[in-house]
Amino acid sequence: MSDACGSCSSATPGGGCSSGGCDKGPENLKLEKTLSRIKHKIVVMSGKGGVGKSTVATNIAVALSLAGKRVGLLDVDVHGPSIPRLLSLEGQQPHIGDQVIEPISWSRNLWVMSLGFMLPSKNDAVIWRGPVKIGLIKQFVEDVAWGDLDYLIVDCPPGTGDEPLSTLQTLGQDAHAVIVTTPQGVAVDDVRRSVSFVRQLGNPLLGIVENMSGFACPECGTVHNIFSTGGGEALAAEMGAKFLGRIPMDPEVARSGDDGFPLVKVDHDSATAQAMNAIIKPMLGMADLLQENNMMPKIDDLPSENGKVRIAIPVVGMTLCNHFGHCEKFAIVDVDTELKSIIATTLETPPPHEPGVIPAWCADQKVNLVIAGGMGARAQAMFTDRGVKVITGAPAVAPEEIVNKFLAGSLVTGQNTCDH
Ligand code: ADP
Repeated sequence: MSDACGSCSSATPGGGCSSGGCDKGPENLKLEKTLSRIKHKIVVMSGKGGVGKSTVATNIAVALSLAGKRVGLLDVDVHGPSIPRLLSLEGQQPHIGDQVIEPISWSRNLWVMSLGFMLPSKNDAVIWRGPVKIGLIKQFVEDVAWGDLDYLIVDCPPGTGDEPLSTLQTLGQDAHAVIVTTPQGVAVDDVRRSVSFVRQLGNPLLGIVENMSGFACPECGTVHNIFSTGGGEALAAEMGAKFLGRIPMDPEVARSGDDGFPLVKVDHDSATAQAMNAIIKPMLGMADLLQENNMMPKIDDLPSENGKVRIAIPVVGMTLCNHFGHCEKFAIVDVDTELKSIIATTLETPPPHEPGVIPAWCADQKVNLVIAGGMGARAQAMFTDRGVKVITGAPAVAPEEIVNKFLAGSLVTGQNTCDH
């Protein structure tokens, strides 16, 4: 049974708030501080193991670092930590100080942390219960001295169990997911579950990567489609997610992984490395990617009734209220979809706050889009379930100003933080 946060309709299975911003207990201040110094968090996930998730996560981290970004690579795959091997860092031992762990430096701007560094031998199996694993994931985020990072790339255990859940909840609502799959139908079914998992948690999905898609001939570099390809792309289209691209099966990928030198570094001119770089390059412009990825819906994407779209914004006085669940009123702004201009704004009082009440009330008011400052994952999922789109991280200014910027495509959003 989930307990809802009293402040933002958000909940975690163990109770409390999952919105990140509402967790103001002293035990979470350290986590918040760590996270506030990391600009972008990308969690690489997969429906099942062996699809190349760690390989993709490592190459993303290395490529971003080669582009001059400050990058952290965190391996929370507690059952098969492979990042140390993929980066020739096996046997390294991080320095552990007073409640702080120094990440291992791979280059001057790429730092790595993995459970693999903590195990006495690479043959040691880790048999830990859920709560211990969850505690470890949180510790690896908050107790590691990551410093200021442009990107934290997280290699997450496969599936949709406790560890991916805890990873996304620890990192917060602005952690973006990348899902890796292979083209075969069975893997695609697993990924379908991963996509809905990410959506239910309310985290943004950057897109889907299809790995081992076709075979890159070692002689001529030509990609032969010996097995089916396109499963990941078809799934992305079916689920309204962005298809980030495909990487062929290439013996060089396996070899470079075994040797501990990621392909994007050692063989960056090869067709396979270029395919990887084509997937990674848009991540350098995350804001554009999010826009393109429909994270910020456009007015034309919203279902309209009689040429009208209805937008709700929680307000206190006449400015946006960050404290979504307990705002005084909602500004209900009607927009003419043809003219892309505001028809009318009214102020409505929402019913008293109870988890789930405001999403239902907004749906009854025929609202198509809610633009909020901060909102928990649970509340976002409740809106989405009722067909109401959500934008979070909007600035605390007048509702008409927000809507006009949204209509002009110039609304800039920041962190999804509830200020309660
Ligand atoms: P996961 O993290 O999903 O379990 P890994 O990244 O560890 O998967 O990859 C599993 C194996 O497949 C590794 O041996 C890796 O080198 C290999 N591999 C991954 N991607 C490719 C590819 N595109 N071509 C050839 N081998 C690959």
